Amino acid sequence: MTGMYLDAASTEPVSEDVIRAMMPFLTEAYANPMSVHSAGKTAAKALEAARASLAADLGARPDDVIFTSGGTESDNLAVKGIAMARIRRMRDAYGESVTPRIIVSSIEHPAVLESARWLERWFGCEVVEIPVDAQAHIDLDALRGELEQGRLDVPSETAKPRNATVLVSAMLANNEVGTVEPVDDIARIAHACGVPLHVDAVQAAGQIPIRMREWDVDAMSLSGHKFGTPKGLGALLLRSRVPIEPLINGGGQERSLRSGTQNVAGAVALAVALRDANTRMRGIQRQLVASRDRLIDAVMRVEPKARLTGDPMRRLPGHASFVFPGLSGEALLVDLDARGIACSSGSACAVGRHEAPGTLLAMGYAEPVAKSAVRMTFREPLAPEQINQIAAAVEESCTSL
Ligand code: PLP
Repeated sequence: MTGMYLDAASTEPVSEDVIRAMMPFLTEAYANPMSVHSAGKTAAKALEAARASLAADLGARPDDVIFTSGGTESDNLAVKGIAMARIRRMRDAYGESVTPRIIVSSIEHPAVLESARWLERWFGCEVVEIPVDAQAHIDLDALRGELEQGRLDVPSETAKPRNATVLVSAMLANNEVGTVEPVDDIARIAHACGVPLHVDAVQAAGQIPIRMREWDVDAMSLSGHKFGTPKGLGALLLRSRVPIEPLINGGGQERSLRSGTQNVAGAVALAVALRDANTRMRGIQRQLVASRDRLIDAVMRVEPKARLTGDPMRRLPGHASFVFPGLSGEALLVDLDARGIACSSGSACAVGRHEAPGTLLAMGYAEPVAKSAVRMTFREPLAPEQINQIAAAVEESCTSL
């Protein structure tokens, strides 16, 4: 790609390293990992090694890992699957007298929000959205309050569900503004009310350290193409204590939670790419953060109307996001692209329809301001000349528009 690619949060290229690691499982060791012959066993061994490596890099155990087709599928499986299993338990205990509730933050990705809406349509679930503040921090007091409201009056010795809330879903890092949420605190709050927590870690994996079990998270979604695998690969990490219904039924692969012949080369790619991303992260974190902050300063200097969105400190290391009140974000993106700078509005999944980014609306920005959003995301520290070049392009774009 020519010019400067500042859209790493949308997707990343696949490295030679990852392609090299995948190759043998596409050409020689291509057997079905479920086959009993020795070629199948070789493939199964590679699959299990990939599972162990991925788990180790996320503070999880190999048994927690369910390979999927990406972040969207993992979010769907966690939200719908856990909710359906817990709704059934609730109905077994209380019949139709209790309305199940699902609690999500108001800044979740559509893969989570739309899954919750689906539960509303098909299971009569009440969807509760927890507000965020002006920097996109989830309101923990509001979360506590909503969980308290869902408490059911049941003697502690019964095995009946004690909360009408079937699941809390909150993201680790926001895709539009990069704010990082305290998911360990959220897990404590949810568990105090007997409710499991799903975390969408799609934007965070490979960018910041992840300790799934230490944080006591019940389910966690990942997407490979955000840290350097081919698209269409991901995983759901899921603790065995959490009841769940599969969405894809068949031959019983992946603990019967995601049937279908496993993509061995894909699993290897996930493991290698995450290991590489984590190693790179440890090496360049400080420089990446410093260059991000210099970029933010440079953009605000050349365009005094520009405002940083999200938390200035507690944000992803290679994530700079702004609004440019009075300008159209879409026009800015097109103009910057013509100047060789590829960036985005932050909500890649609403591409084709330039809707106002949902996170910014939830943060309290008026719709016209939210529609002026521009997000710049990168995985390598930016050199001073690159920062100057971006700032100059922003200045020229803002002037010409
Ligand atoms: N969740 C978040 C926070 C994302 O940013 C994305 C993609 O941008 C997804 C989920 C969906 O992931 P995938 O593209 O692998 O389906």
